[in-house]
Amino acid sequence: MYSLNIVYKQLKDKIYEKLNENKKSSYIAFFDDSELVQLDEKEAIIVTPYFFYKTMLSDVISEINDSFSDLLNQNVSCVIETTDDYRKKYIIDAITKDLSDNLLPEFSFDNFIEGPSNKEAKMAALTCAMRPGEKVFNPLVIYGDSGLGKTHLLHAIGNYIKQNDYDKKILYITSLDFVKEVGTSLRDNTIEEYKNQLNSVDVLLVDDIQFLSGKQKTNEIFFTIYNELFNNRKQVFLTSDRPPIQIKDIEDRLKTRFSQGLSVTISSLEFETAVKILELKLKNHNLDTNGIDCDVISFIAKNFSSDVRNLEGALNRLLFYSINFSKGQKIDLPLALEAFKDKLEYVSYGNKDLSSKVIIKAVADYYSLTEKQLVSRSRTKNITTARHVAMYLCRIHLDHSYEKIGNDFGGRDHTTVISAFDKIEKLLKENEIYRKIISDIEKMFT
Ligand code: ADP
Ligand code: MG
Repeated sequence: MYSLNIVYKQLKDKIYEKLNENKKSSYIAFFDDSELVQLDEKEAIIVTPYFFYKTMLSDVISEINDSFSDLLNQNVSCVIETTDDYRKKYIIDAITKDLSDNLLPEFSFDNFIEGPSNKEAKMAALTCAMRPGEKVFNPLVIYGDSGLGKTHLLHAIGNYIKQNDYDKKILYITSLDFVKEVGTSLRDNTIEEYKNQLNSVDVLLVDDIQFLSGKQKTNEIFFTIYNELFNNRKQVFLTSDRPPIQIKDIEDRLKTRFSQGLSVTISSLEFETAVKILELKLKNHNLDTNGIDCDVISFIAKNFSSDVRNLEGALNRLLFYSINFSKGQKIDLPLALEAFKDKLEYVSYGNKDLSSKVIIKAVADYYSLTEKQLVSRSRTKNITTARHVAMYLCRIHLDHSYEKIGNDFGGRDHTTVISAFDKIEKLLKENEIYRKIISDIEKMFT
């Protein structure tokens, strides 16, 4: 039996020997923040928190593989995964075999920064974690836009209960895991077993319930599991990107159930909270505010605070840039401006006149449409896609509310905008071509 931590430590030393001094210094952070989670005769898996780190580590995959062979005297092929993908791809199998709780220990209440935008949600989460199963808070639903800390809070709740009550059986799943698992169990005729497994927990945490939308059979099964848990005074925690009542295509009785307990929302970050989060993340990187000018922190907080994921991405880029180009000098505003000069997947800061009109024009030009066509009622596929892309970009770059975007696009309802946003977000995750399209369009207006 290997101890993975020890192997990983030795592996890092080997890899550093193979990298030149310059590369090595920038890679230390990527490797230190990552973890070797699986190793057998043939395959190793290193899990890394950000997609950007995954790209960087994949660049040195041959050095990694060589170091494994040096160390273990056998050929091991290493796979780099982000934490999210790893959970999706590998942990799901484990659930059915042994009901592991899937909780990620790195998310706690202690490292969740509180501000006006999330105070209520954090309070509700903590209160409920202290007294799981009480009827008034069952279920507790936390809803809000993506990247604002819903998943973080859900794990924090689970970890808190786990620490304080060893006997409680806890399970975290995403609703996509659930959908997938129900599908497999129906096919394999093991649905009753799966239901029993879920019904045996004391605390069920289900992330992103909006994905239950449109799946009738799965809804029914969720409904029976939910009722059973609720009647047995078991606690259910849910998150969603919108209020439960606004989730499309799920049964009304399920919406009623979801709305039965307490729903709390997290809103967009305010500047002060963004600054505090940045300071915490700097601390996690073993940096303090002496290494970075405070106007740089303000710059990032102002420009990248539409969600915390953005904020973290921007900070990582800046740190990477500073390690490579300023060789550890204090990070100042000119360096920050340089670092974000052409990183257009991040929010634009250069074009102060950016407006929905500018975005609509850029997208229309890109798709060879007129601006009028773009906001029209036409449902021609090409026009609809362009419209969805433009709505998505308005949300990302201007941080406009769904309502405002609906108005700017010919008086559409905010739910139409939400569904357009979801569609594009999904396409971006799944499809390289869309990522390219979006980044090409962004270049036109940033
Ligand atoms: P959501 O589930 O709402 O899309 P996440 O919980 O995945 O968002 O949050 C995205 C990232 O931002 C995570 O790394 C999370 O730890 C971090 N984060 C979000 N809110 C906070 C906060 N208030 N304090 C510290 N970190 C936060
Ligand atoms: Mg989430």
